[in-house]
Amino acid sequence: MQRFLKEPVYILGPCSAESREQVLLTARLLREACGELPFIFRAGVWKARTRPSTFQGAGEEALDWLQEVQRTYGLPVATEVATPEHIEAACRAHIDYLWIGARTSANPIAVQELADALSQQSFRPKGVLIKNPVHDDPKLWLGNIERLEKTGIPVMAIHRGCNHQPCWSMAHMVRLSRPDIPMLLDPSHMSGDASKVPALMGKIGELGLDGAMIEVHCNPKGALSDNAQQITPTCLRDSLDSILSRLCLVSLICPSKDQEELHWLRAEIDELDDLLWETIAKRMDVSRRIGEWKKANLIRPLQPQRYQQILSQRQKWAEENNIDADFVTQLFDIIHQQSLKQQL
Ligand code: PEP
Ligand code: MN
Repeated sequence: MQRFLKEPVYILGPCSAESREQVLLTARLLREACGELPFIFRAGVWKARTRPSTFQGAGEEALDWLQEVQRTYGLPVATEVATPEHIEAACRAHIDYLWIGARTSANPIAVQELADALSQQSFRPKGVLIKNPVHDDPKLWLGNIERLEKTGIPVMAIHRGCNHQPCWSMAHMVRLSRPDIPMLLDPSHMSGDASKVPALMGKIGELGLDGAMIEVHCNPKGALSDNAQQITPTCLRDSLDSILSRLCLVSLICPSKDQEELHWLRAEIDELDDLLWETIAKRMDVSRRIGEWKKANLIRPLQPQRYQQILSQRQKWAEENNIDADFVTQLFDIIHQQSLKQQL
């Protein structure tokens, strides 16, 4: 089945609607920065924040500001919904697109309630977008897509990663299971870091994704939520320019779906290497702390018995996972030697 989109979808705007002025200024700057490029303006009105002492969003009043963006700039608008009451309010305000955030996406009961509420509205949004759950669970993400599809409203998926890291393996599985569902990239929540957003945007073309949701703020440093990851409209413009030219390049050098598959698999390898690297760095850190303990307790760094124990346990894992035992021995020899160095 073909995905229903003809053009990539860009959903751009601040993490939160903070004030009427901030919303309208960001919309104007984005309109100017994007030129002819069509986009949907986003702003969160009800924010699912980790700590209760932080900004929780401006609430229903901010829906008026989004309507003003629709009227003034002719832009379709999107906001996040987390409860049936949010859906009722957003539909009353004729918000064009609704998205379901990663925290809500982790709870299938909540998603079902939202799907039921959506089905009951007389106003039909143009689309409903579902982020991946905060944890790596492709089946839950797929299940949420299925729940929302029953509303008859077009559904799109958003890959926003887990713990400020991409989760390409999860996205790849969803992509393979549901090639008919458009998938957008959210490089902002995926990295939590504005400086990483432009490079991540390059993945849109490489992986044949259908667009992106990107947090853009008129004054990122002063933002009341997610201030480390929002970019300026100018930075967005520059990044789009470079990815649009890259997209042309990719379509020249990567015309087939097979090539796309290779890029997905390579993204998975990069993700795993990142994890390996992070794990090795953490392991060295723990080794140093063990070294301090050994020094304080007058124990030598090398404890042959302990190393034998480690090695035979790891070789057992190798056997269970069909990995060559010699390879595992060599690998742990290198790791162990380096760990000992940390303790000298
Ligand atoms: C958001 O898009 O503002 C948001 C809260 O995203 P997520 O649910 O991915 O954290
Ligand atoms: Mn945000």
